[in-house]
Amino acid sequence: MPFPLHLFNPQNFPRLTARRVTLVRFVRAIAGYAAADAADPDDRGFLLDPTFANSHGPAFGISGPDGANPAQECRIRVMRDRIEPTAQLFPEIADAGLVTLVTPAAGSALNPAGAQPDTIVVRAASAPAADTSTLLKLHYGSAAGPVIAECVIRVHSIHEIPVKGHIVSINGSKPACDADKVNTFTTLVTNANKILMPAGIKLVLDANILDTPVMGLTTNNTLTLSPPGFAHWDHEIAVIMRANPQPAFLNAYIVGQIQSGTSINGTRGVGLGRDFVATNAADGVYPGAQTGFVMYSPDDLEAFGATFAHELGHVLGLEHYGNHNDIPGDATIADNWSMRNLMYNYSNLSTGAPQDQVGYGPHLISPDIRRGMFIGIKRLAGIVQSNQADTMRTGFNNDAYLPV
Ligand SMILES: [Zn+2]
Repeated sequence: MPFPLHLFNPQNFPRLTARRVTLVRFVRAIAGYAAADAADPDDRGFLLDPTFANSHGPAFGISGPDGANPAQECRIRVMRDRIEPTAQLFPEIADAGLVTLVTPAAGSALNPAGAQPDTIVVRAASAPAADTSTLLKLHYGSAAGPVIAECVIRVHSIHEIPVKGHIVSINGSKPACDADKVNTFTTLVTNANKILMPAGIKLVLDANILDTPVMGLTTNNTLTLSPPGFAHWDHEIAVIMRANPQPAFLNAYIVGQIQSGTSINGTRGVGLGRDFVATNAADGVYPGAQTGFVMYSPDDLEAFGATFAHELGHVLGLEHYGNHNDIPGDATIADNWSMRNLMYNYSNLSTGAPQDQVGYGPHLISPDIRRGMFIGIKRLAGIVQSNQADTMRTGFNNDAYLPV
């Protein structure tokens, strides 16, 4: 039995402002770096596209079992804003054939105490033929009590992307991570997958890391953006990413450092998708560029795991989110949603408020706050690429990560 949301018509009471009281919220079950089993719910706005699900809450994604991949369990936490811990809350999955309620058992109340208070664990019951969704409902008082909150669970099939790692020596000098290259790429891919799992995307690293030499660049062991004597800032990117791309893979290149003007490693990486480079092949802004991404030798494998996921986002068609530099005329947005997003321009959110409230915890090495790792999943009118998971999955289906 749902609570009636319209107790009176506010248009008949011009001095009153209609408000929705949120008794509980659905939030990340963890703090700190992303985890494959703890989605970051998309709670931008409270109205969803009816084609997605007619719900008034956030949405989060999980992945179904697929081939050798078992279904990933996923935690979501209920935050009690206007309701006491003694009140009993009973989660229910609308379509139990699509999503299994793991904890608490069906018909049982949430546990507000313990190491993981008020935490719901779900798992995809099957891999849907097409991306689909169901509702997570929260009943008050009993399993048949009124529904006080809803949340959409979107279930994806798993899209696997094979990754070929390249260690790029420039003018004969290799990046620092060459000595530990297998562990470097393995850990980067593992950490990126923690971020990508809610979008149903899984990177699979090929065990053979390639040594890819490039000669004749401006500075040894350095990718120089806007190299002297070239009109296009990406000239050396194009040279590197055209050096030895493997046709059936997403090609990920690691260089020693990236120089832009006098800045060393101010830019962490550059990622380009197939559609983009195909339309800029001859003499555009990115002449001769190739699909894939390049980043500099990581000093922090969690922070660069997020960079790995960010650059993959570009390869699959995502633009920067908020504080745009990609879309002429688009508004500059530096709000909490933007800064929390995986596709925000900046990877090190500073410690000033509100930045320290939207990142995912402090760096291991520098005192900065990490980049956000949130991937949007709702379709919200007026927001460019609001459904980022869909954009990435469409890019996958169009082979956007394969070299041209
Ligand atoms: Zn970017």
